[in-house]
Amino acid sequence: MINGGIDNLGLFQFEAKELAAQIFLNDKPGKILGDQLTARLCEEVGELARAVRRFGCHRIGHPDEKPGTTDEVIDEIGDVLFLTARIAELCDVKLSEAAGKVIIKLEQRMRERQKGCT
Ligand SMILES: [Mg+2]
Repeated sequence: MINGGIDNLGLFQFEAKELAAQIFLNDKPGKILGDQLTARLCEEVGELARAVRRFGCHRIGHPDEKPGTTDEVIDEIGDVLFLTARIAELCDVKLSEAAGKVIIKLEQRMRERQKGCT
């Protein structure tokens, strides 16, 4: 068990894979599992959206809802990360590669935007 968090995406993906193999014994690799994991991810993204909507000074949830907490947001982000790691593993993709690619893409977009402003 890791108490202080994980800063390494490769380690996180490995831990998620190991734990999933021990917990979800009926999950077998294949297209159906991909669909199931994607559906679960959508559900968790919805839970994250609800937690964020109720959170702190950015709160936009219903006035009668109790305010959200940092712990709820952390829990839901963790659920999203876990399912994302499982989907990455199923598709033989490294989370670290995906993270690197999105940073490169965003840096490129920023450079193009800066060029457009000159
Ligand atoms: Mg959740």
